[in-house]
Amino acid sequence: MTNTMKTIGIIGGGQLGRMLAMAAARLNFSTIILEPQADCPAAQVANAQITAAYDDPAALKELASRCDIVTYEFENVPVSAAETLARSVPVYPPAKALDVAQDRLTEKRFLNSCGIETAKFHAVNNQAELESALADFGGQGVLKTCRMGYDGKGQRVFRGDEDLAGAFDALGGVPLILESFVAFEREVSIIAARGIDGSVECYDPAENVHRNGILHTSTLPARINDATAQTARQAATKLLAALDYVGVIGMEFFVMPDGGLIANEIAPRVHNSGHWTEAACIVSQFEQHVRAVAGLPLGNPVRHSDCVMTNLIGDDIDALPDWLKSKNVYVHLYGKAEARPGRKMGHVTQLVD
Ligand code: AMP
Repeated sequence: MTNTMKTIGIIGGGQLGRMLAMAAARLNFSTIILEPQADCPAAQVANAQITAAYDDPAALKELASRCDIVTYEFENVPVSAAETLARSVPVYPPAKALDVAQDRLTEKRFLNSCGIETAKFHAVNNQAELESALADFGGQGVLKTCRMGYDGKGQRVFRGDEDLAGAFDALGGVPLILESFVAFEREVSIIAARGIDGSVECYDPAENVHRNGILHTSTLPARINDATAQTARQAATKLLAALDYVGVIGMEFFVMPDGGLIANEIAPRVHNSGHWTEAACIVSQFEQHVRAVAGLPLGNPVRHSDCVMTNLIGDDIDALPDWLKSKNVYVHLYGKAEARPGRKMGHVTQLVD
């Protein structure tokens, strides 16, 4: 059997790129990171870095010429960059997935077109539209920027008793979406993968708890019944096929009191709520993504242990000595020198008996 070393280009240099590069190395792939920030978390463990903007034409040309496959680790990669690259090298997941995931309105419309339920929503492009949209939802809802919002940034919750004056401008005067307020019981996510041959594998849904809009813990198993878990798998499978997707995707849902699921967000990449797979599955989401984009058979997503993944955010890193002393804890640090508030420094996954 030949064992030719192929090179995977990764756009984005954060911790997700770092974990992808490590998984790639284990399967004999080399990696090149495209990232403007020098000495980024991914480049510390990759073979090379092209230090340039994600849409720099010369850098994209160089990346295409040095790689056999290109993928990405964040959803705000310029669609034009992915399309440019795709003319000379396979780019997975497809640019269409970026296009859908980058705009909450496009995303919700696409999910609905696949028969996947979301919160009700209105496009909001000025103060008058905001007021009429809120009136339609009885004064309650979650107002979000359509683009570039993540980890709870660019959002405002309305409970029905606020002064609405200036509310549109307060989010920057950019296109917004008002979502109906979903009275969910819990939040879950599913990590799924689709291979070049169209095969699909899903990990078990995780139950997620957010703090200040940032993922705090993912717990397995989620407290949902089999029918709800099956609905999540079916939704992911439909979405992957509709996007003609290759790679790992993360899908977040609200779980309703009757067990129904409402899709909130998709991420066309490996996802924070799938980090537990490193410790509790034979094949992690990172290896699964590498397998998918490289055209290898998808791995077994079966979970061998119950577990809790906890993000180490900002000063949480100070508890590292205790985590290191704990039994059955898988520690993963991201190579970031400075612990700033809200900054993801690492995560730990504790296997539970
Ligand atoms: P997002 O940035 O869309 O993931 O939202 C961040 C968090 O805000 C979610 O994980 C939920 O906890 C909450 N949230 C977002 N949208 C809604 C909604 N329509 N109804 C109720 N809670 C929401």
